[in-house]
Amino acid sequence: MHYENSLEFARAQDANDPLRSYREQFVFPQHNGTNVLYFCGNSLGLQPKTVRRALLDELDQWAVHGVEGHFRGDLPWMHYHKFLTPQTARLVGALPHEVVVMNTLTVNLHLAMVSFYRPTARRYKIIMEAGAFPSDQYAVESQVRWHGRDPERAIVEVGPRAGEDVLRTEDILQIIEKEGDETALVLFGGVNYYTGQFYDLEKIAAAAHRMGAYAGFDLAHAAGNLPLRLHDWDADFAVWCSYKYLNSGPGGPAGLFVHERHGSNADLPRFAGWWGHDEDERFLMQKGFKPMRGAEGWQLSNAQIFAFAAHKASLDIFDKAGMGNLREKSLRLTGFLEFVLREANREKNLFRIITPTSPDERGCQLSLLTDGRGRALFDYLTANGAIADWREPNVIRFAPVPLYNSFEDVWHLGERVRKF
Ligand SMILES: *Cc1c(COP(=O)(O)O)cnc(C)c1O
Repeated sequence: MHYENSLEFARAQDANDPLRSYREQFVFPQHNGTNVLYFCGNSLGLQPKTVRRALLDELDQWAVHGVEGHFRGDLPWMHYHKFLTPQTARLVGALPHEVVVMNTLTVNLHLAMVSFYRPTARRYKIIMEAGAFPSDQYAVESQVRWHGRDPERAIVEVGPRAGEDVLRTEDILQIIEKEGDETALVLFGGVNYYTGQFYDLEKIAAAAHRMGAYAGFDLAHAAGNLPLRLHDWDADFAVWCSYKYLNSGPGGPAGLFVHERHGSNADLPRFAGWWGHDEDERFLMQKGFKPMRGAEGWQLSNAQIFAFAAHKASLDIFDKAGMGNLREKSLRLTGFLEFVLREANREKNLFRIITPTSPDERGCQLSLLTDGRGRALFDYLTANGAIADWREPNVIRFAPVPLYNSFEDVWHLGERVRKF
């Protein structure tokens, strides 16, 4: 791909962008009367304009029908989770009965681990990436302790080699092979939140299975960022949130994938609630939990309608744009960002990009490892209307999002970095 560091070049790219109209469907925060340069979709995606209407519709449904809203109207609450299923399945590459929207991310991770981390005397280890998102680290540590085991012995972390920033697939696979006999679960992120590295999930799942362990993935930074094929990659389970790339608003609902080979296994231990119980008998209010087939059988509670309504509005946009088209634009947009950042950095030497250079090993995010000037650069960008995020100890993350970021946004960001 050929890039030029000019406004004309950026505008020409935008003019040729088949997805350019999607930008108009989002609300941008303002800075001095113009849209901010928003590069924080990896943390909180922007608000789709359709969300307001979707929420008002549910307020109306409540006002007009009261409790009858569970059974009346276009989207009766009783079935609301199902209205999210087809788009969700397409988004993560799953069969419809392999996915459900419920709860929030860390909750789903715990629920999945209840079923897929069941240590025995011989198999009790969890292999995971070093530097996983803290919530995942705490979830894993507390699960291990809850089973009466020592996290020091049970958790095996795969880290980068000395002098390197990201993991090598060969190292991940080698550790799985080495520890596999004692491993109950291999748990990886899809895209690491700090480095932006996208792991080879298919190879990781295959290696875990060869050793007789389960493979689970946290796709918080991958869902809505990259095309995923969870069913074909043979993940046992996966979880993700919806407020990052999926633009469903702060605290938005999360997803769960359970591979179909486990979905009809009613004997798989789990924590149960009435919404996971056989739908035909749910309101008979009787003893004896009988799980729904598929991921729905892991639900606990009735749907949080307002959060789900925002999520649906956002998922409908994704479904229309198509993850394949989004990825195509994303490759060019992030490539352009990498190009303008390198240009801006050439004389200053302010940072080093630690995200893999190969597009196959990353989503849209680029992570910049900075030196002592990093925080000042970040504050300068914020003061000048460019919103990115800062991750301790010294990383600035930029996520150009193909749904609403333009090549012109990227060019302006490069200019701001250059002017620092
Ligand atoms: C954002 C993120 C979380 C946050 O968890 P919540 O339960 O949604 O607050 C957890 N894990 C990963 C990997 C994340 O990126």
